[in-house]
Amino acid sequence: MAKEVKCIIIGSGPAGYTAAIYAARANMDPVLYTGKEPGGQLMITTDVENYPGYPDGIMGPEMMEDFKKQAARFGTEMHVGVMIEKVDFSGEVHKLWTDAGEEIHANSVIISTGASAKWLGLESEKRLTNKGVSACAVCDGFFFRGQEVAVVGGGDTAAEEASYLSKLCPVVHLFVRRDELRASKIMQERVLKNDKIKIHWNTQIEEILGEDEVTGVRLINNKTNENSTLDLTGVFVAIGHKPNTGLFKDWLDMDETGYLITKPDSTKTNVEGVFASGDAQDNVYRQAVTAAGTGCMAALDAERYLAAKGLI
Ligand code: NDP
Repeated sequence: MAKEVKCIIIGSGPAGYTAAIYAARANMDPVLYTGKEPGGQLMITTDVENYPGYPDGIMGPEMMEDFKKQAARFGTEMHVGVMIEKVDFSGEVHKLWTDAGEEIHANSVIISTGASAKWLGLESEKRLTNKGVSACAVCDGFFFRGQEVAVVGGGDTAAEEASYLSKLCPVVHLFVRRDELRASKIMQERVLKNDKIKIHWNTQIEEILGEDEVTGVRLINNKTNENSTLDLTGVFVAIGHKPNTGLFKDWLDMDETGYLITKPDSTKTNVEGVFASGDAQDNVYRQAVTAAGTGCMAALDAERYLAAKGLI
């Protein structure tokens, strides 16, 4: 028999947990499915220095633990490690199925499935993932202590990864495909004045070298077309993210990258009773604090929707 809920929240980053705090306090009896990576992207972040309320900064995983506790305190039912793998938004009651075979009927749905790291798309990258290729310096940097490594990308993530690795490694090569960084000014400054970080402008990886482990990279300078190779043992890919919204492609409007489209000044999607929050719908700000903000908005929108239907 299907489980009947007033409000289901899919995802467990700042958006999902904040939606849960608000929904639980509004007597919506929310049920939250964390997905396979509870806590989302902040679980692979080190210091969060820009979330208001933490004057000394906080580690990403610790902050997510606090969010989770706060959501649980008000009675959110959590299903940790469980994925929603199929949805049917054709009726007034929305149907969802978990990877544990459970069917759920929900009056309202809050999507906060976040985004995942993008990869370069090289065969060698795939083959050598976890054998020297990683998308998370905080998770894997320790294994490369004292070794020469590289980070790919020019955004805040790449700058953060390079700075983190520079505390463990003697040389961190940063491959930037243009002649400037996209990262925020403060992160740029940090990277530029760190003498352990060597920036290679206009440089892209053509191939990651090594059979069973990374031994180097073959590079191309996209201005001069010159090839070169560099010996190193770790490659950290930090080139941005894609939203985790494939599950909804038959039902919800999304842009060409997959970001869910919400109605102006709200979290409403094109399906009544389905709301989207966090990085799954935000390709502009993508901050923990903005994700939390839209999670709050989604819970308030869902509350109004349920109240108008006399369901709460
Ligand atoms: P971004 O999209 O901001 O940056 C991606 C970077 O990777 C760009 O420099 C881009 O180059 C480069 N890139 C993309 N594709 C390739 C490719 N195929 N080969 C080589 N380089 C490539 O992503 P981030 O993950 O860095 O940041 C996402 C958001 O999260 C941002 O808004 C950022 O500010 C925020 N953030 C904030 C942090 C903080 O405040 N502490 C920490 C981390 C992220 P190009 O510039 O040429 O497009």
